[in-house]
Amino acid sequence: MVHLKISLHLKWQTAFHTTGNRWRWGADKAMVRRYDGAYVLPATSLKGALRAQAERILGDKACKAPNPKHMCSDPNHLCLACEVFGNPRRVSPLRFYDVVLPKSEPQIRAGVAISRRRRAAVPQRLYFVETTAAGPMVAQADIQGLFPSQEKAEEAAALVILAAQMLSALGAGRTRGLGWLETIEAECTIEGKPLDRRVLEHHWNQWLGGGQ
Ligand SMILES: [Zn+2]
Repeated sequence: MVHLKISLHLKWQTAFHTTGNRWRWGADKAMVRRYDGAYVLPATSLKGALRAQAERILGDKACKAPNPKHMCSDPNHLCLACEVFGNPRRVSPLRFYDVVLPKSEPQIRAGVAISRRRRAAVPQRLYFVETTAAGPMVAQADIQGLFPSQEKAEEAAALVILAAQMLSALGAGRTRGLGWLETIEAECTIEGKPLDRRVLEHHWNQWLGGGQ
């Protein structure tokens, strides 16, 4: 098996929020915290955001998660998104880790619920969201996995990295100006050796249809 490791260096330009199931005095939506109290972007949120972006890149060559009815049904003929990110019938070869956010004094922001139907603010639906301090904020996401061949590992790396670079926001509340990313830089090794950028670009050109 071939070992792939990807580190994404994430830089947010705005404050950040993901809603957890924790209760905090004064906040209707508290952020997700880990067992030790650190604020995190959960691995599942990162994976979901990357998969959604990967599906956009692959277009009609990929199925549409997360509803199993709209996903590949034959485990022997999976689309590339299912091969890399997993499928109800096959686990992902990649493991995603919670992204630990730097220690900061969290803030409480007021929001106003907007009625989507009437497109008008409903004053009595004022609510409070816990966020990180105003940006910029940096954090590192680690992803690793085992693949049957060098080629499969390279293809997976190219898909994950391109998806990451096309993300404009991570976390909840982007319409309220939360979670906007400034840059994502990727570092990638296969069997401990840095992956040549030309290998990535070869795949990117195929998917994006340029320079063939
Ligand atoms: Zn699929």
